[in-house]
Amino acid sequence: MLVNTIKEVREQVKAWRKEGLSIGYVPTMGFLHEGHKSLIEKAVSENDRVVVSVFVNPTQFGPNEDFEDYPRDIEKDYAFCTEAGANLVFNPEPEEMYFPDKCTTVNVEGLSKGLCGAKRPVHFGGVCLVVSKFLNIVTPDRAYFGEKDAQQLAIIKRMVRDLSIDVEIIGCPIVRENDGLAKSSRNTYLSEDERKAALVLSRSLKKANEAMENGLRCTKEIKNIIESEINAEPLAKADYIEIVDSETLQPVESVEKNVLVAIAVFIGKTRLIDNFTFRLN
Ligand code: AMP
Repeated sequence: MLVNTIKEVREQVKAWRKEGLSIGYVPTMGFLHEGHKSLIEKAVSENDRVVVSVFVNPTQFGPNEDFEDYPRDIEKDYAFCTEAGANLVFNPEPEEMYFPDKCTTVNVEGLSKGLCGAKRPVHFGGVCLVVSKFLNIVTPDRAYFGEKDAQQLAIIKRMVRDLSIDVEIIGCPIVRENDGLAKSSRNTYLSEDERKAALVLSRSLKKANEAMENGLRCTKEIKNIIESEINAEPLAKADYIEIVDSETLQPVESVEKNVLVAIAVFIGKTRLIDNFTFRLN
């Protein structure tokens, strides 16, 4: 079922709850791909009913970002969700989600400061606002997020803990193209040459991972490996290269605990992100 209003979602959820059914939830911005599919399929395998939201959320885009250009195709997305086993697709208009005079903000301080937050100052406030609203509307037992957006996942886990929202947040591994590029709706922006150049993200991370597997612990040297690889690709320009504690997201000088190695790279005008977690235990 495809619905556009909060009321319709609440009615359906209420009916399912009456039957004693569990509910899984997958938030997305649409233009769905195999990465989203892995989240939906996991939700289907762990819950009686699954809700997917498809919403290009205006509050998480900065003034010069790609809100208007972000690809949209709700018919295709709806078929995709149904095929993957979802029971309800919620596709609200921005007016359905936001009152013109809204004055509530949701910010997870600290965790939102570095990495993407440093480059996109309004982004995580928008994400937290919309995700908390969706969690209040859908009231799922479990909600599924991709490790592709590792900072987002850490922030949402903290938000849910701090606000005592009764939901289990489940992280799902990054799904990649065969050649290593992390799947993203934004990959559709890439020209043929840029698509080839975009491989520098996964390639540079692989090199860093190999060096770490071989015992390299100095994060400055690890970042240098990534930076040299990116600099060697003419169409690429690093936005950030960071190695942070995987829980606090604070930068570390030496790898002594589990760390998140995260990068954002402009390929032409398109900004892509990728990461991996290096675990010591
Ligand atoms: P988006 O539509 O880009 O906002 O993504 C919606 C959800 O899908 C987020 O939790 C993302 O982390 C997740 N996601 C996007 N791309 C991937 C991917 N390649 N692998 C796994 N999860 C992904």
